Amino acid sequence: MSSIIQLLPDHVANQIAAGEVVQRPASVVKELLENAVDAQATEIKLLIKEAGKSLVQVIDNGIGMSVTDARMCFERHATSKIRIAEDLFQLNTKGFRGEALASIAAIAHVELKTRQSDDQLGTQIVIEGSKIVSQQPSVTPQGTSIAVKNLFFNIPARRNFLKSDVVENKHIIDEFQRVVLAHPNIHFFLYINGNEVYNLPAGNLRQRIVAVFSGKTNERILPVQEHTEVVGINGFIGKPEFAKKSRTEQFLFVNDRFIKSGYLHHAIMGGFEGLIRDGLQPSYFIYLQIDPKHLDINIHPTKTEIKFDDEHTIYAILRSAVKHCLGQFKVAPALDFDKDPSLETPYELYRKEINIPSIGADPNFNPFGDTPKNAKPSSFSKGPEPAWKALYTDLPQEFPVIEAEFLPSQTKLFEEERSKHDFSNAQQLFNKYIVAKTANGLLIVDQNKAHQRILYENFLKNITVSKGFSQQLLFPISMQLNGPMKMIFNDISDALFNIGFQFETTDSEHISIIGIPTMIQESEAEDVIKQLITVISEGQVFDAFDLNDKIAKSLAMSVAIRNGQLLSSHEIDAVLQDLFSCMDHSVSPFGKPIHFTFTQDDLDRKFAL
Ligand code: ADP
Ligand code: MG
Repeated sequence: MSSIIQLLPDHVANQIAAGEVVQRPASVVKELLENAVDAQATEIKLLIKEAGKSLVQVIDNGIGMSVTDARMCFERHATSKIRIAEDLFQLNTKGFRGEALASIAAIAHVELKTRQSDDQLGTQIVIEGSKIVSQQPSVTPQGTSIAVKNLFFNIPARRNFLKSDVVENKHIIDEFQRVVLAHPNIHFFLYINGNEVYNLPAGNLRQRIVAVFSGKTNERILPVQEHTEVVGINGFIGKPEFAKKSRTEQFLFVNDRFIKSGYLHHAIMGGFEGLIRDGLQPSYFIYLQIDPKHLDINIHPTKTEIKFDDEHTIYAILRSAVKHCLGQFKVAPALDFDKDPSLETPYELYRKEINIPSIGADPNFNPFGDTPKNAKPSSFSKGPEPAWKALYTDLPQEFPVIEAEFLPSQTKLFEEERSKHDFSNAQQLFNKYIVAKTANGLLIVDQNKAHQRILYENFLKNITVSKGFSQQLLFPISMQLNGPMKMIFNDISDALFNIGFQFETTDSEHISIIGIPTMIQESEAEDVIKQLITVISEGQVFDAFDLNDKIAKSLAMSVAIRNGQLLSSHEIDAVLQDLFSCMDHSVSPFGKPIHFTFTQDDLDRKFAL
């Protein structure tokens, strides 16, 4: 039989390699930014269009490339950064594999413009799917500009696999933050769809952290420093009282390279031991300097994991450096450890008074008329009612009556099951459940999940069908939003407006809340919005089918009455009424059961055992 093994053509090999190096637009961002840093740029601009799907461009003022190098840089294993194997052990550049540009050029349309300072003219190269389309001299500033367009144009499966713009932008911003935090001495810009998201002038590390994460960070961080033979440590850690639920502000760098290490994260958390309640996360921005001899950077293709010779020693030093820093700044435990953490809410919402959800139908209201917003608020409710509720016009003002277990749809509820019971006998159990006698037996409702469902439907209707009512604030609440938060805010501001929020932009970093929906308390408004932005930016999935759904779910989760919250009999009634006028009263927006009924059969069976 004849031989069958062949060498793969270069463009195929490059495409395969690209699969490893380029997972999404953010991978391109990382590689291009690192190349610009390695080229000793003092100013680097990142331009993104359509979450990097149509454009990722990096413009630097670094050393640039000669004509030959401009051509060479797209070859696989072509690098100026190492020459011999030993160089791997004294690396001080980000790149060294020489495969990023070859990989990117294999799966995108790339335009390179570059000029070295001594040259009059620069070079422009256009390369598409590894094929050089054109090469010519070009008038271009000193430095390099690489524009990567139509990523994955020749791998449709990969392109389709990309997530929504919000999610891809979030990955891009993450990569950007990792690079800018490692290089405060470089001036960075980030533009997304033509809008300036970041302008970070060169400065010291504290200035850089504050510029990336908003002005308040300045009072919230403490310097940490430790120098030993094995490792140098410096950077900042967040004061324990500002710990939060998300891990968005945790950064660990080794020799100015962002890394992920569960082991060293554990060491840092150990330093905070006893100062932070379970489940909360402190901020940290910690920079380790370790002799490259004792590192193996080569273990992961995208290089966020590093192997150390002496991990145990580094662990111990890091933990004690954090402890020492917290001790030095006399950060005493300011927490009440006696509280039952299961009753805790993200923003102490449990202190709020419950907003009474109510039906408040206006019998005169015609939902198909032209002016739904003129629907008169019912006398039953505290504030004006969202107009959608009037859709339930044929509901009696009394409690709706149900057979909780057998309610396939609300139509049945309203048309057939009416007026057999009321809920006036309902009681709260364990400050968590609502129990009521119905025609079918004993109805048990989870108060938190019930209220989530009520709010979720309410918010969703406000966003999509009819605008919710807004309550003007006497004193506007000023909210500080950094660039990425502002961007997400812009994406969701229409939905928030429909729900009943009103805003004014004061300056580029501040937004004032001037009106809030009636079902949200003034004291929680800012936290609710910030939490929503975090949920969206972190791409936390709760199986939402679109952005509006996600907004409604996230808000419902933040604002719903909590387990552990005592309800008055009036509030109990209101929850039950509103629950059973929901489109789907049986499962929470997160797919959990809201209520069930112990029927007579169930009880008979129990006692027959
Ligand atoms: P690596 O960074 O691992 O060397 P790359 O494929 O990213 O591999 O880049 C290949 C080479 O192209 C680099 O070694 C460098 O010499 C050159 N290069 C890439 N980007 C730039 C840039 N922005 N400025 C100057 N030279 C660059
Ligand atoms: Mg590189």
